[in-house]
Amino acid sequence: KGKRAFIAGVADDNGYGWAIAKSLAAAGAEILVGTWVPALNIFESSLRRGKFDESRVLPDGSLMEITKIYPLDAVFDNPEDVPEDIKTNKRYAGSSKWTVQEAAESVKSDFGSIDILVHSLANGPEVVKPLLETSRKGYLAALSASSYSYVSLLKHFLPIINPGGSSISLTYIASERIIPGYGGGMSSAKAALESDTRVLAFEAGRRKGIRVNTISAGPLRSRAAKAIGFIDMMIDYSSANAPLQKELSAEEVGNTAAFLASPLASAITGGVIYVDNGLNAMGVGV
Ligand code: NAD
Repeated sequence: KGKRAFIAGVADDNGYGWAIAKSLAAAGAEILVGTWVPALNIFESSLRRGKFDESRVLPDGSLMEITKIYPLDAVFDNPEDVPEDIKTNKRYAGSSKWTVQEAAESVKSDFGSIDILVHSLANGPEVVKPLLETSRKGYLAALSASSYSYVSLLKHFLPIINPGGSSISLTYIASERIIPGYGGGMSSAKAALESDTRVLAFEAGRRKGIRVNTISAGPLRSRAAKAIGFIDMMIDYSSANAPLQKELSAEEVGNTAAFLASPLASAITGGVIYVDNGLNAMGVGV
């Protein structure tokens, strides 16, 4: 029987979320996505106008179908959390029920349950600043959007994840090694996300037998990565220094997510799984 996946953090066809959606769809899953409210209109209209049709092609030649797109802003847990300036913001006013709790409630009333929960989102307003120049506000915003957003998502979706289900997030090696340029508290946010992956694996495992893993992905030219500004350098560094000297494709991360979500990975939980051409294993550049 086909599984159903909810993937938070898809707003174009360039990022890891899109690639994960495709790999899960290719494996037979039904795809629901959560799209950041300010990016929703352009994503929906591009999809409708066929702008993504080429990237929707699955290995069997069919096109990936997204059954439903939910508006989502993962820095707000429920309507009481939403400040006035966001409520009245033009980019938000056209959508409703986009807090984490409401998104989970909407998925529940539309579909009853899911099998796979994917968190493929991050945001750090001061990412280009070194940690020593990061403000408290910027640091906490990075943690809120990139780490607590996952705690909240899993907390609110857990009641509707079927037994045997699985949850996956995306992390980056800047959590454990020095990556100059990945600033604004984003390195701290990924360290929190990885630590939380272990604790959440315990809690969700004991409560419901749900598995929780995070994929530590190598560099990809996504919209978010381009905003950081050093992505081309990181891709070049990886091709020069990694054991596998090829560019990483988003599909390789998508396929790992599909594996982790499948019964083939039934004993894997609490893990940080590297999908980075092996770069993490190097001690020095060569
Ligand atoms: P992306 O731009 O495709 O994805 C980031 C998504 O987050 C966007 O769709 C954006 O709209 C969404 N988003 C931002 N704030 C949000 C919020 N408050 N609520 C809901 N959605 C929000 O870029 P990506 O690089 O594919 O990022 C996906 C994940 O992969 C992130 O966790 C990122 O840190 C991780 N990652 C990326 C790289 C890389 O090199 N691109 C490497 C390792 C890990």
